[in-house]
Amino acid sequence: MSSMRAVVCLEPGRMELQHVPVPEPAPDEVIVRVEASGVCGSDIRGFHGRHPDIQDYPIILGHEYAGTVVALGSAASGPPVGTRVAVEPLTVCGHCRGCIEGHYQLCDHLKLNGHHYEGSFCEFTRAQSVFCFPIPDAMSFRVAAFAEPVAVAVHAVKRSRATVGDLVVVLGAGPIGNLCMQVARAAGARVLISDVDPPKLEVARATGADFVVNAARESVEDAVRDLTGGTGADIVMEAAGVSATLRQTVHLARKGGTIVAVGFTADETDSIRLTDVTIRELDFLGTVIYCRDYPATLDLLSSGRVITEPLVTHEYTLEALAEQAAVVASKPSGMIKPLILPQQR
Ligand SMILES: [Zn+2]
Ligand SMILES: [Zn+2]
Repeated sequence: MSSMRAVVCLEPGRMELQHVPVPEPAPDEVIVRVEASGVCGSDIRGFHGRHPDIQDYPIILGHEYAGTVVALGSAASGPPVGTRVAVEPLTVCGHCRGCIEGHYQLCDHLKLNGHHYEGSFCEFTRAQSVFCFPIPDAMSFRVAAFAEPVAVAVHAVKRSRATVGDLVVVLGAGPIGNLCMQVARAAGARVLISDVDPPKLEVARATGADFVVNAARESVEDAVRDLTGGTGADIVMEAAGVSATLRQTVHLARKGGTIVAVGFTADETDSIRLTDVTIRELDFLGTVIYCRDYPATLDLLSSGRVITEPLVTHEYTLEALAEQAAVVASKPSGMIKPLILPQQR
């Protein structure tokens, strides 16, 4: 194995199937044969040239993947060759303040597969060996490929401190919103989730949402007022990455409640009424990727408390992804999580 098939994003808006060299592992890295990879909103931003951390083209996008370890770097300490793994698609320095304090998601030199170096829309990719987590025999690669976005949701829900009896509002029912809903429910909360796209709301219902609101037809604020007797939600999670829903968060949270900005708009002009945050003593929290959240994530997935199959709406080989990249990147209604199967033809 010296060359591999890869979908290369040559420049914003242009993807092409190419044969490229199989990457070589650094001493602390392994090579993973990619068996399944989700397409994330950030891949789509990267495809359009609108992701702040994806600036270096050409690039192989993709970071939500699972596969098999096939080669080890000289100092790799993680699982041996042949192990089926879910991967945290990160490289961290180990020396900065974030790393030393145990918050490696805040590493000053954080790099991600598909953002700063080759990603997972290809047959083989590189991973730091300490970030490879063996998966149970019974867990399929297509489920394990969801570990990454589920870990994002686990981290966000931990940040929110959601607990038994809380009412959590999740704005946006795409993959991250849906998974935040499922993880918050696993933590004991009741969850209201909203979106404007009916197929996403269907999937939200099928995956256990307590209350589903079509924000194109009903007022989320009215629904929350009715459910809480006018008090407001304990926790509001913004997962749409839209300025309008970001602004809405402060009107949905109860006094003393918590807002978690999970999505980001990459828009310089977002305006939140900080007066509301101050006077109503809200906790307004950011959240980024995850940190030591994979064990809990794999437990949620293997126990079935988080289910992912209803989210998979489309499947592509590498060839099909290269051909249909523009369609995938247009995020048509009904497309929730496209899954790439790089070993299939
Ligand atoms: Zn992602
Ligand atoms: Zn660091």
